[in-house]
This record gives sequence, C-alpha cells and structure tokens, in this order.
Amino acid sequence: MNSLELFNESKKYISGGVNSPVRAFGNVGGTPFFTDRVDGARIFTCDGRSLVDYVCTWGPALFGHNNPSIRAAIESALAKGTSFGTPSVGELEMAKLIIEMIPCAELVRMTNSGTEATMSCVRLARGWTKRDLIVKFSGCYHGHCDSLLVKAGSGALTFGNPDSAGIPEGIAALTIVLPFNDFAAVEECFEKFGERIAGVILEPYPANVGLIVPLPGFLQLLRSKCTQYGSLLIFDEVISGFRVAEGGAQARENVMPDLCALGKIIGGGLPVGAFCGRRDIMEYLSPLGPVYQAGTLSGNPLAMAAGTAALKLVKQTMPYAELERKAKFLADAIKDAAKQKSIEIQTPMAGSLISVFFNPERVDNMEIAMRSSKQMYKKFFYSCLEGGVYIAPSPFEIAFVSAAHTQEDLDFTAEVFTKAILSL
Ligand SMILES: *Cc1c(COP(=O)(O)O)cnc(C)c1O
Repeated sequence: MNSLELFNESKKYISGGVNSPVRAFGNVGGTPFFTDRVDGARIFTCDGRSLVDYVCTWGPALFGHNNPSIRAAIESALAKGTSFGTPSVGELEMAKLIIEMIPCAELVRMTNSGTEATMSCVRLARGWTKRDLIVKFSGCYHGHCDSLLVKAGSGALTFGNPDSAGIPEGIAALTIVLPFNDFAAVEECFEKFGERIAGVILEPYPANVGLIVPLPGFLQLLRSKCTQYGSLLIFDEVISGFRVAEGGAQARENVMPDLCALGKIIGGGLPVGAFCGRRDIMEYLSPLGPVYQAGTLSGNPLAMAAGTAALKLVKQTMPYAELERKAKFLADAIKDAAKQKSIEIQTPMAGSLISVFFNPERVDNMEIAMRSSKQMYKKFFYSCLEGGVYIAPSPFEIAFVSAAHTQEDLDFTAEVFTKAILSL
C-alpha cells in the first residue's frame, strides 16, 4: 500500500488515522506520508522516497536517526529484559548525567513523556508552595495536561480559557496566561496575584509556535519576580534541553529555574521525560514528601539505555557549535532567496533552533506569529517536500538539524529551499 492507501486504512482503525494530531498534515492540507524506516538525516517513505529530514521526530534525533551507538545500547539492554519494576543501574546512570549537565538539577525523577514531566512540575509547585495559581505564556506548549492546555482569556490579565474541550473551566481558571516578552504584564500579574502564584512555567525559547526569542532581561525578570514572591520558576526544556547547549537554555541564558522539565532528546528516540530541580523541592515528592508522582514504566531500562547513550554522545562530541553553524547555513539560504524575491520573512534563531515566518514583523510573541502567512508556508512546505526535503507540516513548528546532516545534505537543502522560495 502507498501512503494514501495506508492513511485511508488507518483512519478506519485509529482516530483521525494518527496517534498525535500534527502528523495528519491538517495545518498544510493534504495527507501525510507514511515512514518505512529512518536512518541518519533521512526518512524513507512507504512510497519509496528518500527525504532529508528537518523534523527529526520533533526533536529527539539530535544525533540523527538510528544512531549506531544508541542502537547498540538499546540492543545490549534488550538482552537483559524490557522492564524491571525495581530500581536499576540504568536509572542511576541517567540521573547522574542529567545532574552533571543541567545547572538547576540537584535531584531527578524520570517519567515516560514530556507531558508527565510538566504535569508533575505543576503539581509539585502547587504542593510545595501551597498555592493554586499557575502562570503560563501564550504560545508556549507544555504537553497536553489539563492545567497547561489553556489559552489566554480576553484582555491582557485574565484567567485562562480551556484550549480543548474536556477541560473544566474551573481548572483552566487556575491558569493565568500572559503574552510572552511582555514585561509590564508580568509586573502587573505579580502585583495582583503574586501571593497566590505557585509557579511560572515557560519554554525559555518558545519553540511551539515557530520560534520566539526572549527579549534581553525577560527571563531574568521572571526569575526575580518568582524569587520575590516565593513562586517557583519552571523551565520547560523538553525541546531546548541538550538541544541548544549541554545545559539547555538555562545555561545559555544564565538563568536558574527552580524546576525543569525534560524530554525528547533524553530518550534517545524512546518515550521518556524527566523533571529535576532544587533538592529541597524535589524531596517534597513521594515517597519522601506529600506530593504523589509515579509511573509503571518510568525509568524503563531500554529508554534509560537509549537516553544515556545520547547524553554520553553529547558529552563526547559537544555538537552545539556545529549544529548552530548548520542551522545558520540554512537560515542564510532562505534569507538570500527571500531577498531576491522581495519576500518579507523572519528567521529567528536560538542555538540551532530555527523557524521561518512569512511575516514582515519581528516575532516576539504568539499574536505576531499568528499574523504570518499560512498560505505561503503551505506552498513552501509542498515545494520542499516535492524537492526531497521534509520540514514541519505546520507554519508554527521549528526546524531541527542533527549531527547526522552532512554538508552535502545542507547544500542539497539550500538548493531546494531557494527554488521553493523563488517559486512563491
Ligand atoms: C513536546 C513537548 C512537550 C510534551 O512532551 P511529550 O513527550 O510529547 O508529552 C512538552 N513541552 C514542550 C516544550 C514540548 O516541545
């Protein structure tokens, strides 16, 4: 069966034909391709095509797909069994690596997804502070837990509205949603509600509406307000952790959160999340403390083997300067083509994170991001796909480069990008 036939068949058995909505290509129209296998920087589709991949399974594939040392680690773990349900050495090794690399990490807990990690951070912040309110920012995505799947209410400083059916108003009302990079809104929010705020959660480099770069001083303001009011600062580094630097955005920006959620790269391609932070707060978790958090498969030996192998590769190869060079090479190719064609675009970058907005304005928050041309992105996306390059099937996602992308891949991509822009 080809991709179209497979998708039609899947729709009979899987809700919407996919196990995560963005995979359905709804944001660019059309139907998704099915993947047969992945290797290095490439996806091989069920239609017999080979694509240079800049989605990289949405971030985890920092070292490319099917990396030989990660695969070898999984294979040797597999020989010992797939799940223990007792403490194991793999979990210890993983925890040590996270604590060594992530500045705020004094203690760690493993989860099975990024969603579980952020959800656990929120519960821990509420338990620790004995307060109910959570502050988040519009455009930041923290997985699909109820308290965080909340959008801004009307007006700058209102309690949130559910971003999905099935989330009670009462739960959404405990989340305050602010515009990112809005210093005054943060000040006002703390003035009004500071004593009731359990925690402020954010992606320090918001990368789920395309990329938004924090204005100088914004992260520092959040740190100082949280300290002043006894609220916890929670960085969701599920994307930026081990992606923009060995120590994540907190190391790059030199801002220390109280808690940090991790995921994606730390699973080496298997399902994993983790959260970590200050010792005294992390000791408030069960079994030491009163905040409950658990997982049948948390710390799974295969996932620990894959993740540990990935983090060891980080330490051995320090890929960040090279990843940044590659991302900049691609951004420059797009910018040059756009200039030739007099198309106004934005290509924000943070470390190797990049995105493309067809937008004349600098994108400092979600509201501006939403004014980007979806139609142009859609055309750009399909020209790239036809040319053999897979970028995110949505104008509000970012591009991921990996250590496996070769200069040949990049040169090829630059040509495809240029042609795609010039054909707009
Ligand atoms: C992907 C993502 C999550 C959710 O992780 P899952 O493993 O999909 O549950 C949370 N936060 C951010 C910033 C993410 O990009």
